[in-house]
Amino acid sequence: MRPESLMMSYGYMPEWSEGAIKSPIFQTSTFVFKTAEEGKAFFEVAYGLRPSAEGEKQGLIYSRINNPDLEILENRLTLWDEAEDCAVFVSGMAAVTTTLLEFVPPGHLLLTSTPLYGGSDHFIKKILPKYNIQVVCYQVNDTPEQIIALVEATGMADKLALVYIETPANPTNDLIDIAAGKAVAQHFSTPDRQVLVAVDNTYMGPVWQHPIKHGADLVLYSATKYIGGHSDVIAGACLGSFELIKRVKGLRTFLGNMAGPWAAWLLMRSLETLKVRMDQQAQNAAKVAEFLNHSPFVEKVYYLGNLTPAHGIKYELRQRQCTSNGAMIAFDIKGNEQQAFRFLNALKLIKLAVSLGSTESLAEHPATMTHADVDPADKAKLHITEKLIRLSVGVEHYEDIIADIAQAFEHI
Ligand SMILES: *Cc1c(COP(=O)(O)O)cnc(C)c1O
Repeated sequence: MRPESLMMSYGYMPEWSEGAIKSPIFQTSTFVFKTAEEGKAFFEVAYGLRPSAEGEKQGLIYSRINNPDLEILENRLTLWDEAEDCAVFVSGMAAVTTTLLEFVPPGHLLLTSTPLYGGSDHFIKKILPKYNIQVVCYQVNDTPEQIIALVEATGMADKLALVYIETPANPTNDLIDIAAGKAVAQHFSTPDRQVLVAVDNTYMGPVWQHPIKHGADLVLYSATKYIGGHSDVIAGACLGSFELIKRVKGLRTFLGNMAGPWAAWLLMRSLETLKVRMDQQAQNAAKVAEFLNHSPFVEKVYYLGNLTPAHGIKYELRQRQCTSNGAMIAFDIKGNEQQAFRFLNALKLIKLAVSLGSTESLAEHPATMTHADVDPADKAKLHITEKLIRLSVGVEHYEDIIADIAQAFEHI
């Protein structure tokens, strides 16, 4: 069955909980062992003191290590990406930072695409160097040969540990080639040292892009965005093979940054409508983009649906990697910061807020908000200018969204 058919039931049996059709919120810190022998066995498996026996499952110990709501949610999340396992976190940043710390040890090199989400960018450039981790970044249009040359120029090619990719990139929907990232990782891998590829898939969500199919070893989400989808919970996730997620969960246990049962329960509720919400958001976004494409107040629209075969590799990447044009649109308004702010201040239905992928439409000004911290030279290169507006299109009636944009344009 398709993931959307399984989101209401997968990984949970009503007979476990008095016939309750929905999993209860297991709001408990600890779990009672039947016997001391059982407690001993659970800890042996949890701490890897002995290999688990055939068919032996990890027993419930303590909610920093495991909890039924977390486990059911993790099992459901694996279905969309066809991953073996998943670890959920208290935030997207917790998922990103724990994964980086686990797979890029001190003295090693991290290769990333650009631009990156502001929080990830800050952690990678300002915090990882404190732990003696070096970083090298490539640009949207760099070829695998150019990326390989960049890595070699660091003099640390034999220390490359991870290729970190974010695609489509925020806020301009630039596409990064995941398979090319994998080719670079393989180029620098040796039989005893595999260079891994991690992809932050927040911008497309679990429905519209499946990075593992294109060679990614790890998939990351801010579950705050499409997965949660209602602007009411902060959470994150990392998916991959049993072997890799075991390591991620190992570090998570000791950093203590797992999601709690209440957040996990909210996310399970959200997952039941993930596909219908995202489908509706994408349909609305196509209508909004069409309106913006023809508006005299707009200079340029950054929307995946505007790519045509004439755009060459960009169009080819859109066809290969994404199953939808998504619900994120950015556009250059005619004018500068003043016109952009007048527009944002005049919106009524669309809320002026950061975040994305939620049921309500949101608008923001990347240059002074989400990307305020980006180096000015990089901002110019990435088209993050005073006139850029970012829209996350929600599930409202598209005519109401368009009418709100149209009336706000009249104020500029
Ligand atoms: C929001 C976001 C994050 C961080 O997630 P939080 O849940 O806010 O911690 C990471 N990556 C991307 C692409 C994001 O949009």
